[in-house]
Amino acid sequence: MEQKEIIEILKNDNAEELYQKAHKTRVETIGHNVYLRALIECSNVCSRNCLYCGINRENKELKHFSLSKDEIIKTAKLAKELGFKTIVLQSGENQVYDLKTMCGIIEEIKSLNLALTLSLGEKTFEEYKQYKKSGADRYLLRIETTDEILFQKMHPDGNFKNRVECLYNLKELNYETGTGILVGLPNQTIESLAKDILFFRELDADMIGLGPFIPHNKTLLKNEKAGDLELTLKVMALVRILMPNINIPATTAMETLSKNGRKKALISGANVVMPNVTPILNRENYSIYPDKKGVNALNKEELEKLYKEIEEIGDKVSGGFGASKNFKKINK
Ligand code: SAH
Repeated sequence: MEQKEIIEILKNDNAEELYQKAHKTRVETIGHNVYLRALIECSNVCSRNCLYCGINRENKELKHFSLSKDEIIKTAKLAKELGFKTIVLQSGENQVYDLKTMCGIIEEIKSLNLALTLSLGEKTFEEYKQYKKSGADRYLLRIETTDEILFQKMHPDGNFKNRVECLYNLKELNYETGTGILVGLPNQTIESLAKDILFFRELDADMIGLGPFIPHNKTLLKNEKAGDLELTLKVMALVRILMPNINIPATTAMETLSKNGRKKALISGANVVMPNVTPILNRENYSIYPDKKGVNALNKEELEKLYKEIEEIGDKVSGGFGASKNFKKINK
């Protein structure tokens, strides 16, 4: 599929057929398994000033927190007790955990026989290498947009080439590599979304996470319009069709924008959900966007409701680690 064809599909108003095709593709390749990941937001300290993000360093009203190593391990153990097989450790861009500390955290989580995904932003090749050596399995680093001009505008102190390089470094180090974008950033074009999709394929990503942009009232983009759920789902469905073997989460931002966002995503190509296990007291301060509607895994009823929701659409929660089929294929 070329850029022109992708653009045409994204511009088509009747997406029902596309969603169905994406769902069919997911069922044929991955089956009815849905993988759950326990998300630990370990620190909201961030040295960057990404225009859209509520935890950017310019938000002076933010109450900062960083979980200690013990708190992180305690939370991971709790996640294991709740039945999770994968931990996702996410934070702002910071040096709160030096290399040795982070490697120690990784080793301890891995000793619990859990899969581990890191989402700690841009690090050096050497840092990624040491994390991998300590046992980290996967890494999530969204490119956010491949439109370089837009990227630079959104990330005044970021560097597009460096972020791309980080992704290729992760691939080289044999991480199961995830990337993704924000859909609906101000001045983002359909053409650039099509290029984003081609970039995912070019990188041969193992996971793709997409979310609509949601304006945060403590950021410079507070008066901008939010991204469109349908467009986000269309991009996601196309990604599923073009990259049948990868893992795709139904993201929290989708659910935040629309009450049935998660369910819609799960029947349009997605096969992963990431419930939140971050200690409740810290959670409200990990406010990358307002009013996040993630599944609260620490609430038994909510977690049960998610299991039910998954069963209702004919799927089931998998008991496996849920590595990307795309990754397994290469590493057989
Ligand atoms: N520092 C890490 C983690 C960032 S937070 C990193 O750079 O990878 C995880 C994701 O939240 C980001 O990649 C971004 O795509 C998303 N995000 C941030 N602000 C958002 C907003 N206002 N609306 C929707 N998603 C947002």
